[in-house]
Amino acid sequence: METLPLKDMQTLVSLSKRRGFVFQSSEIYGGLSSCWDYGPLGSQLKFNVKQAWWKAMTNRQDIVGIDAAILMHPQVWVASGHVDGFSDPLVDCKNCKNRFREDHADTKDGKPACPQCGSSDITESREFNLMFETHMGPLKDDGSKVYLRPETAQGIFVNFENVQTSMRKKIPFGIAQIGKSFRNEITPGNFIFRTREFEQMEMQYFVKPGTDEDWFESWKETRWAFYKSLGLNESKLRFHPHGPDELAHYAKAAFDVQYQFPIGWQELEGIHNRSDFDLSQHQKFSGKKLEYFDETDKSKFIPYVIETAVGCDRLCLAVLCDAYREEVTEKDGKSDTRVVLGFHPSVAPIKVALLPLSKKAPLQEMSQAIYADISDDMACEYDEAGSIGKRYRRQDEIGTPLCVTIDFDSLDDDSVTVRHRDTMQQDRVSRDQLKTYLKDKLSSFSA
Ligand code: ATP
Repeated sequence: METLPLKDMQTLVSLSKRRGFVFQSSEIYGGLSSCWDYGPLGSQLKFNVKQAWWKAMTNRQDIVGIDAAILMHPQVWVASGHVDGFSDPLVDCKNCKNRFREDHADTKDGKPACPQCGSSDITESREFNLMFETHMGPLKDDGSKVYLRPETAQGIFVNFENVQTSMRKKIPFGIAQIGKSFRNEITPGNFIFRTREFEQMEMQYFVKPGTDEDWFESWKETRWAFYKSLGLNESKLRFHPHGPDELAHYAKAAFDVQYQFPIGWQELEGIHNRSDFDLSQHQKFSGKKLEYFDETDKSKFIPYVIETAVGCDRLCLAVLCDAYREEVTEKDGKSDTRVVLGFHPSVAPIKVALLPLSKKAPLQEMSQAIYADISDDMACEYDEAGSIGKRYRRQDEIGTPLCVTIDFDSLDDDSVTVRHRDTMQQDRVSRDQLKTYLKDKLSSFSA
C-alpha cells in the first residue's frame, strides 16, 4: 500500500464541497470572492477547534475569557496605530492589470515581478489601508464612521482594567478571546487561508516588565504543545523568527508558528512580545490610567504583553491538510484509492457512525437504541443508506474514527462490530461494554 499526502488545495476544496465541510459563499449567485461558508461538518470541525483552543487557554487559573463587540470606538484604532499604519503596499501590473501586494511579488532578474504574468512593468507602490469602514446610525458622514475590527486584540486591551478588577486578577494573567475580524486584503485566496472575513483566537498575557522575555519563551513552548495535542504532524510545523524588518510597529520580538501547507510554509500563528505599547497608547488616548499596582513590591507599572494570535479558519485548513491522505492499493492489476481524513478524535466532526446492515425493523430498532444510548456522550451519525463498503468509505472521507456495524448476529449475541478508521481493524464488542469501549478508544487515540 502506498500512502500519498494532499497534493494540492483544489483536492481539498472539492472534498470540502462534496462532503459538506466548506462551500463557496452565495454560490447560487455565482459566489462572492474569497468568502466561504462552513457546512454541517465544517462548522462542527471549526467548533471543535475553537473548543480545543478555548479549553487550552481557559482551563488554567491565570487566564479568563471575554467576548468583545466587533464595532468599537473609532479612537481605539487611532490609538492602536491602525488608522495610520495598518496598510499593505499595493502595486499594479501595467501589463496584465493584476493588483497585488508588493511583498507578494515574484522576483525576476533581481526585480519585483507580477506573480500572474511575470512582467516587471509594475507601478510604484502606494499604501492601502486594510480596515473596512461602515457607518453607525442613519447619517453617513465622517462623524458616524466606525470600523469592523481588523483584530480581536484591541477588545482585550480596552477591557484590561475591567477584567483585572472584576476578576481580582494578579499579574501575570491572560485574557483570551475568539471572534470575527475583517481585513480588506489586497490578495485574498488559497481557500480559507486568507479571507477578508475570518475568525481569530487571540490571547494577551499581561506580565511585569523584565519577565517578558521568559514568558515569551514559555508561550512558544505552550503553543507548540497545543498543536501537538491536536495531532498535527510535527515535521510540518516550525518556528519562524521575525527579522528586524519584519517586526510590527508594536513588537519587541515575534515568532510565527508556520505550517507546511500545499502552498508552502506559511504563518499559522503569531507569538508577539508587544511590550507596553498598546496599554500605553490607550492610556494616552483615553486619558484613563491603565497602570497596575503590584502589592508584593509596591511598584506601579504598565504591564508588558505577550500575545498569541492564530486564525481559526487557517488552523482548520491546517488540520484538514494534515489529516488528508490517500491510500492506494494494487490488487489483481487494479488500483484502489481510499481517501481518509485522519483527524484526531478531539477535532473530528463525527466521532462514531452507527451503521445497521439492513433497514429492517429489528436492526433499526436496536441501532436507534444504541444511538440514543451513546449520542449524548459523543457526536454520532446514523446512516443506513447504501452498501456497507460505501458507507465506510464515506466515514473515512469525513474522518470518523470509529464505525459501529449492527448486523443480524447482533440480534442473537447482543454484540456489534467496531471498525477502526486508520487500521480498518474490526472488533466484536458486546453491547453492554460498547460505550466504555468507544470512549476508551477515542481518548487513547494516537495518530
Ligand atoms: P499577514 O502578514 O499574512 O497578512 P499578519 O502577520 O498580519 O498576517 P496577524 O495580524 O499576526 O497576521 O494575525 C494573526 C493570525 O490571524 C495569523 O497568524 C493568521 O492565522 C490569522 N489571519 C490574519 N489575517 C488573516 C486573513 N486575512 N485570513 C485568515 N486568517 C488570517
